[in-house]
Amino acid sequence: MPAYAVLGAQWGDEGKGKIVDYLARDAQVVARFAGGNNAGHTVVTDDGKFSFHLIPCGVFWPQALNVIGNGVVVDPDVLLQEIDDLKEKGIDVSDRIVVSERAHLIMPYHVMIDELSEQARGSSKIGTTGKGIGPAYADKAARTGIRAADLLDIEALIPRLEGILEYTNAVITKIYGGEALEFDEVFDKCRGWSERMAKYIGPAEKIVNQALAAGENVLLEGAQGVLLDLDHGTYPFVTSSNPTIGGASVGAGVSPTHIEGITGVFKAYTTRVGSGPLPSELTDQTGETIRELAQEFGTTTGRPRRVGWFDAVAAKYSALINGYTSAVLTRLDVLDGFETVKICTHYVTEDGEVTDDFPGGVAALGKVRPVFEEMTGWDRPTASVRHYEDLPQAARNYVERLEELIGCPVDVISTGPHREETVSVRAMMRVVA
Ligand code: GDP
Repeated sequence: MPAYAVLGAQWGDEGKGKIVDYLARDAQVVARFAGGNNAGHTVVTDDGKFSFHLIPCGVFWPQALNVIGNGVVVDPDVLLQEIDDLKEKGIDVSDRIVVSERAHLIMPYHVMIDELSEQARGSSKIGTTGKGIGPAYADKAARTGIRAADLLDIEALIPRLEGILEYTNAVITKIYGGEALEFDEVFDKCRGWSERMAKYIGPAEKIVNQALAAGENVLLEGAQGVLLDLDHGTYPFVTSSNPTIGGASVGAGVSPTHIEGITGVFKAYTTRVGSGPLPSELTDQTGETIRELAQEFGTTTGRPRRVGWFDAVAAKYSALINGYTSAVLTRLDVLDGFETVKICTHYVTEDGEVTDDFPGGVAALGKVRPVFEEMTGWDRPTASVRHYEDLPQAARNYVERLEELIGCPVDVISTGPHREETVSVRAMMRVVA
């Protein structure tokens, strides 16, 4: 009954989309467990490049059921648009998608409050994507959220929505000076969603557990990265959900005892979008070169990503709280052609202490200085290489050093965006006949 979790192991954008698609060949269920349409998962197939914000990356494999778990916050307009876009490209997923009845919905006022509150923060912006994700999770915790199941009994929603809107409109107008939303406008939107969404809404947790009981492979697809975790990330510059392994269990309704593999997807270097400390950041020409070479601009926002060398201190912390059974290393090809590559192995604290501890406080993390280990770069490209033994020796040395530092084996190495540009070092999943 194995479930396998695929987690972004850094600050997001590690290339989870490609890896989930690659692994989904052997999965009967792919379940997203956290985040919302602030994620942007890219999959490149022979038919072109696809970016998914909500739909799990198992859609290209006809045997895979795609589940949007209870831990995800769903903007139905975005989901319906993604389903329509895929259909236009010849991929009909309408009978292969289930949205948990327990998943919370992103309402029009969540998007408004997200934008208004970020504006109000001025210079201390969190760097939210402005898509209503944070306010939707806040309402979930405040027990004023609206869930997918509420769309199945639209009349029963009326009194709740009236009460919620009364409070929310007061926040919008009195705190942020915005314009109040009309009840009819919001309710009509819900009615429209109810008509189009009803067929996708179901008991996702039960379906996932039935698959596990039948011995099928379930992939638990993470969004964002564990260093953006609400609890373990660089708070407050974090996302509003738990991209860590605990979030996978809660957000898909799967017992931790079913999770046989926990894979951390790491980029061969580091990136981060938005604000918050990034100790190994490169603000010089090398950083610019990597950003341009790698086209490090956000899938969802188009914002330039901040770039740095691989941060092994952060990676060790990521491994500590998730217990990775394996790692995936993506974008190794981006480092092709560098004379030397660096790894941040330690931090020097404000007091001059050399440490490999990842500080819990964002102020302390912001003050550390990185200590780099320098390794020889490789003179032959790794781009598109498919077999480990075909990688240049210096690139293998780099991978092996990262394995040592992260503390788990690298099972898969990605050498390009296409599905085929992948080195399988060891099988990561059991193959179900
Ligand atoms: P995700 O949100 O973790 O799925 O990551 P993104 O989709 O935001 O960013 C990953 C980008 O890197 C996408 O454009 C992928 O097509 C691309 N990509 C994934 N793996 C590789 C790789 O090994 N090499 C290169 N050059 N690009 C990759």
